[in-house]
Amino acid sequence: MAAATYAGAVRAGTQAASRLHQRLGLRPALEAGGGNVDVFGAIQAIDLPLLLRPLQGLLGAFLINPVPGVLVTTQRPMAIQRFTAAHELGHFTMRHEPSLDDESILRRMPMASAPAEDFQEVEADAFAVEFMMPRWLIQLHSARQGWTVDDFRRPNCVYQLALRLGASYEATCWTLVRHRLINAALARELQQTPPRDLKVALLEDYRPQDYRGDVWLLTERDAGTRIDGSRNDLFVLRLREHSGGGYLWDIDQLKSSGFAVVRDALEAIDGDGIGGPVVRRVTAAPGEDRRGSLQLDERRPWETDPLSRWQLDFDLTGPEEEGLSRAERRRLLEAA
Ligand SMILES: [Zn+2]
Repeated sequence: MAAATYAGAVRAGTQAASRLHQRLGLRPALEAGGGNVDVFGAIQAIDLPLLLRPLQGLLGAFLINPVPGVLVTTQRPMAIQRFTAAHELGHFTMRHEPSLDDESILRRMPMASAPAEDFQEVEADAFAVEFMMPRWLIQLHSARQGWTVDDFRRPNCVYQLALRLGASYEATCWTLVRHRLINAALARELQQTPPRDLKVALLEDYRPQDYRGDVWLLTERDAGTRIDGSRNDLFVLRLREHSGGGYLWDIDQLKSSGFAVVRDALEAIDGDGIGGPVVRRVTAAPGEDRRGSLQLDERRPWETDPLSRWQLDFDLTGPEEEGLSRAERRRLLEAA
């Protein structure tokens, strides 16, 4: 059933993922509103039974008896859960044999280095890569952020791309290689900088309890998009402020959306800086209500009409927990 060569398996998995993307019509929504590919939403859309469980020694599984279904662990970060779910979705889509999947699905990411005799697994991995991180989605995020291929030399940039794709930093590095946007030597070099170091740098003098959560660097370019993250994540908002003209970002709006402002500072943009625009840099932690819409206005405190308005939708309820997936919960909330 599976392909007979490594290259054939990668091709088969990639094509199956593209076909499912088309069938589900996922691209237009991503082009319009940004965000990542909703893997769990896709599983729900095709009515594939899903169980989220604390699995021992496994990331996930694809079963066919009595009916096809997939299992995904609750004990790993969201990026790993998403990759595992996409891998299992690949097994189902390609009518594979049942599979119990451990960490090796992640280790296989560094491509053809190890002789992969099990081409069914290579197909499922290629499916997962293409389903979560198609080249056009990387290009879409890059265009929005103003990134060029040269920017993929910067760990910071690749980390922010990884967050927007909903993938791990490591998986993102290897996917850039697969799409021939960087070479393997650079991917290895990028991984010399662990995400923790990037988080420490982004947070400057703010020290969270731990560095498990991700740190989203959000700018004007993220306006109108959708952020899908986890409970411990933090936002660093970096917004140009025309304070010389008396315009200030209304940080109270962050607080009324439930965020705690843990750091608030100004950066001058150019040399003299007097009266010119500055950059407001605000670090915020989500409150109890981890889903919603965040709107900030830049206005003169004595005026009601804003000079500019920045808005995004966020869902920081990951990772997936036991029971219904977040996609299923969202669907139920919307129906209510
Ligand atoms: Zn597998």
